[in-house]
Amino acid sequence: MTHVILRDLTRRFGGVTAVDRLNLEIKSGELVAFLGPSGCGKTTTLRMMTGLLLPTSGDVLFDNKSMVTVPTEKRGAVMVFQKHLLFPTMTIGQNVGFGLRMQGVHKREIERRVDEMLELVKLPGFAPRKAHELSGGQQQRVALARALVVHPKVLLLDEPLANLDANLRLEMRELIRSIQRELSITTVFVTHDQEEAVMLADRIALMFDGLLQQYAQPQDFYQRPSSVRVAHFFRNDNLLSGTRRGAEVETPLGTLQIDPSRMQQPDGKVLVTVRPEDVQLVPNPAEGNCVEAKVLLQVYMGTHTQVQLDLAGHTWMVHSPAHFQAQVGQTITVQLPASSIWLLPTS
Ligand code: ATP
Repeated sequence: MTHVILRDLTRRFGGVTAVDRLNLEIKSGELVAFLGPSGCGKTTTLRMMTGLLLPTSGDVLFDNKSMVTVPTEKRGAVMVFQKHLLFPTMTIGQNVGFGLRMQGVHKREIERRVDEMLELVKLPGFAPRKAHELSGGQQQRVALARALVVHPKVLLLDEPLANLDANLRLEMRELIRSIQRELSITTVFVTHDQEEAVMLADRIALMFDGLLQQYAQPQDFYQRPSSVRVAHFFRNDNLLSGTRRGAEVETPLGTLQIDPSRMQQPDGKVLVTVRPEDVQLVPNPAEGNCVEAKVLLQVYMGTHTQVQLDLAGHTWMVHSPAHFQAQVGQTITVQLPASSIWLLPTS
């Protein structure tokens, strides 16, 4: 169990700042996802944590000890890559036991730990096989076993599921989560897939352009995004301009009430948002933030119907029950529940 701190961690490549003054703390045994679009600095951060790359400035601390001058092999952090680079001439057992052999562990102890790890990744009895006899998903599980067998302090996974098909990805996510819980290894998982981050992580660090945007539990990215850009990344583009005055916000649709627990923005200009799944379609105007909207489009999605609405000139998306039906151009009533309204800064 290792507690990790990244302090003002910065890496520049020529004129490009790949990671810019990154500060975050990962608790012992926590699983954190580094999430963000391609090129936002996720892998660069991971490589600085392993020691494969030196920071331009800042520090990486494991249990309050600076790692910057500690060589990779002495840090106790292991990395699993997107491409499972197994040694083709070795058996699976030899692949998994490789790190232990390097450490000079006794042969019988290696065999015991290799068998234990293959059991853990649900590949018992695979030790005598060669890599080419295994499927892509099985090879990725071997790569995971090889990383875990040395009892790392910190496990770093760089998009380990990117090459797998949808079903295998799901299986591997569950496997990684259950092994990580069982062994309580401090783990960082890099992904650009927000669903994967939400399913796996205790906390998500969302990065754009080398800068940390929000570091929080998965549900906060849906219910309490820190900016319009963060809301957009989590597929919410429902926005309405307004002015907050105490527990109310004036909008082109009238005055809306806001819940006391959701008043983080100061009085003044704000953007009002409600997630598509939290907007309610109601049969008749009622008390409590009911407004009129015009139906622009509706698309049946199987589990729900996606309805595009015009709210005072702003286009909003709403997830309604699958059986919802209205005419395009029809005016309907929607409710923006006070407990679902979230205020965002205008810039
Ligand atoms: P992806 O999801 O595509 O792997 P990422 O978020 O992991 O992206 P990084 O690989 O960390 O992003 O790259 C961050 C930025 O740093 C990018 O602009 C990239 O081009 C740049 N970069 C990374 N490594 C180098 C390098 N060795 N030399 C020059 N620029 C680099």
